[in-house]
Amino acid sequence: MDAQTRNVLRNLDRFLQSTYKTAANDAIRENRQALQRIVDYEETDYSYTQDSRQRRERIFQDVWRDEATTFYAMAAIVVAAGLVACKRIKNTNTAILERNYHLTIGSLQHQLGQDGPRWWNFLPRDELQSRIQESAFTKVSFNRLGFNSHKAKQYIMKRLQSQMMQSILANEGVDGLQARIRRLTRSSYYDARRIARTEAMRCANQGSYEAGEQAYREYGIRTRKIWVHTDTAKNPRDDHRAMNGVAAGDDGYFVLPNEERALYPLDPNLSAEQSIHCSCTFYYEVIR
Ligand SMILES: [Zn+2]
Repeated sequence: MDAQTRNVLRNLDRFLQSTYKTAANDAIRENRQALQRIVDYEETDYSYTQDSRQRRERIFQDVWRDEATTFYAMAAIVVAAGLVACKRIKNTNTAILERNYHLTIGSLQHQLGQDGPRWWNFLPRDELQSRIQESAFTKVSFNRLGFNSHKAKQYIMKRLQSQMMQSILANEGVDGLQARIRRLTRSSYYDARRIARTEAMRCANQGSYEAGEQAYREYGIRTRKIWVHTDTAKNPRDDHRAMNGVAAGDDGYFVLPNEERALYPLDPNLSAEQSIHCSCTFYYEVIR
């Protein structure tokens, strides 16, 4: 990943962070009275002991039923933030794909020198955007974040329910409830960040791939793809490290140690476990 792409990702991350932070503040501010009502429920009980656990579970059930509209309103705020996040991630990814498409064409032109085509039919941004492929995993993630508002709401409600139950069982009071809402939006932010990073890497590689494919399709330029391992995660994959410097076969596919096949690192056809947090790339070597 080049410096400019890294910078774009840093800005995206800041945007996501502040979007979810605002959502947490809104959810708390707009439901302040409801949070107090929840605590009033809690105070009807005695201190939390093994014996009173059942009673507190009943309190939670009452709260969850009586404050249903409050919880829906909170979930709606988080889902709305998710939709904003999704749109921003997608726009950023289009820009990243386009940039890497151009970088790779530059690299091919450089390698070909005088032998290269005199002019290059650059694909426009719309065309590149229409080629963006999402993995099955990514589709689910985007839907959970906000693209499918029904699914997203269900997902957030489930998380909210578990946070509220824990807070009420532990008799945490208003501060605790607020902290739980912040925790919920923070974990949505982490989801968004993970998707943003994984998809940025995928789109960067797809951008290169589109350039290489076009070079062959339109100009008959033959190339070989070489895998580059750059996983910087705490636990880099040994199988991706083993791929470093490995060339794709004549059919254009890389074969991973677990036999999965990919046109490029983070190919949407790869399994989630071979994609998430992967930051491998590849480059084209012109065959003369
Ligand atoms: Zn990798």
